[in-house]
Amino acid sequence: MAGLASPGPGASARPRPREPGGPAGRPGPQPRRLPAEAPRPGAMIRCRACGAPITRRAWAIRVRDAHEHTVFNPAGLVFRIGCFVEAPGVRPFGPRSTAFSWFPGHAWMVSACAGCGCHLGWLFLAEPSAPGAPARPPVFHGLVLDRLVEGAGDSPSTPSA
Ligand SMILES: [Zn+2]
Repeated sequence: MAGLASPGPGASARPRPREPGGPAGRPGPQPRRLPAEAPRPGAMIRCRACGAPITRRAWAIRVRDAHEHTVFNPAGLVFRIGCFVEAPGVRPFGPRSTAFSWFPGHAWMVSACAGCGCHLGWLFLAEPSAPGAPARPPVFHGLVLDRLVEGAGDSPSTPSA
């Protein structure tokens, strides 16, 4: 196609004639994009093994049209993973690899619980050059849902034993 110069549908810059009589200065109010909603952190999701806080329900995202993905690795192990935009409770480690990536265009690193070190999933990082790829999050976490438990809220409560 020859329309390289035309902005995509997301571009909002529309040539607008200047109005000499308008208020001086720049346009102040920004367009509202999100509904006014109380910032709710959502339920805490914790490591099933040690109870350390890993991520939050509110940080769940959809990647390739789904939050949950059932995937398997070259060894034949099946994982049910959920995608999260943030997971402060995990520590990625090891080499960055693109081998067998479940999300084409993303490299991955293994993620472990920062509390107990058990394997919780993977950190996916968008490769810089993927021509023609659809929009995708630059970084996200794929966490093994069976290794997580969803807590009720924010309280640092210990599991009742
Ligand atoms: Zn843990």
